[in-house]
Amino acid sequence: MASIFSRIVNGEIPCYKIAEDDRYFAFLDINPLAKGHTLVIPKKETDYIFELDDELLAGMMVFAKKVALAIEKTVPCKRIGIAVLGLEVPHAHIHLIPINSLGDINFSNPKLKFSSDEFSALAGEIVKNLDL
Ligand code: AMP
Repeated sequence: MASIFSRIVNGEIPCYKIAEDDRYFAFLDINPLAKGHTLVIPKKETDYIFELDDELLAGMMVFAKKVALAIEKTVPCKRIGIAVLGLEVPHAHIHLIPINSLGDINFSNPKLKFSSDEFSALAGEIVKNLDL
């Protein structure tokens, strides 16, 4: 069965989309640690990020960089932290998280709540700042 992220890519499950090209897709994390918390995935469904072939993995980081710079322009923060866990969803992904201090990227922290309108507005702002 397709992963939840493949179903997002295929449009079967809604998301707050940030960016897409032929190989990668980025969307807001629905349970964010910080405003602007975004996930970057390869469209090709692979569980473990280090099972991706070298070229696809390298390209994913370049795609993530463009998304991160747009988030950084949108959400005031010191920088965009990156994390890879993959303990919940078996489809490789990079977390991009606006941070100001070490504690901001602790996955044990309570997640933030936003309304659908707030998520949509934020995604729209980040998209405006994208330079793909
Ligand atoms: P992990 O696999 O541990 O890296 O965590 C998976 C991440 O995916 C979590 O931060 C979830 O909040 C996020 N997530 C799960 N389902 C969705 C979804 N439908 N839309 C956006 N984010 C999701």
